[in-house]
Amino acid sequence: MKKISIAIDGPAAAGKSTIAKKVASNLGYTYIDTGAMYRCVAYYALAHKIDVHDQAAVEGMLKDVKITMTPEGRVLLNDEDVTLSIRENEVSMGASVVSSYPKVRNFLVSQQREMAKGGGVILDGRDIGTVVLPMAELKIYQVASVECRAKRRHKENLEKGIESDYEEIKKEIAQRDHNDMTRECSPLKKADDAIELDTSDMSIDEVVAHVMDLVYEKAN
Ligand code: C5P
Repeated sequence: MKKISIAIDGPAAAGKSTIAKKVASNLGYTYIDTGAMYRCVAYYALAHKIDVHDQAAVEGMLKDVKITMTPEGRVLLNDEDVTLSIRENEVSMGASVVSSYPKVRNFLVSQQREMAKGGGVILDGRDIGTVVLPMAELKIYQVASVECRAKRRHKENLEKGIESDYEEIKKEIAQRDHNDMTRECSPLKKADDAIELDTSDMSIDEVVAHVMDLVYEKAN
């Protein structure tokens, strides 16, 4: 079976990374969580008291941002392990702001393309099928209702022992979707040749099995 490139895009908290990780593990592919990279930029700004709304300041600090994604799935920012801290709500909202800046996008997209060189990769994000890897052999646009996404994220937080408020999560997800879909530079949208998958009423195993079928179709 030939090694292909897989793009999974979709709105916030649609379960893209859960599916991408499992499919990557089944296939022995490299998984790249591009959202984590936007989160790193926001985290760096917050940690250095740089206002995420100050576009020039955020763009100016990019030269000091070095992101490493380890094969074990850890995220390093200038060699500091930020895997967990970039999941904080403040960082999510900050990522949604800094991701609208063209220089931030160019900075990260070129690194993502470099990491994806050679195929055998699965990337998830908002612009993978449209901008980062327009030639990807398989493109999935993964969606679920906002209620369903908020419910899943809320449950996940409680299981991890993280304080969680369902209404707050729903509001945050809706706000991030709005930002991502309405920004000028690389807005979130389904690529023309992407396959839309509504996972609202599907289990994780069902989604993984469906994506695996699609991979076999494309890679054989
Ligand atoms: O995927 P995740 O929710 O971790 O992404 C955090 C934020 O990063 C998103 O809300 C979005 O604004 C931004 N993002 C993006 N393009 C990507 C991945 C993430 O704009 N490819």
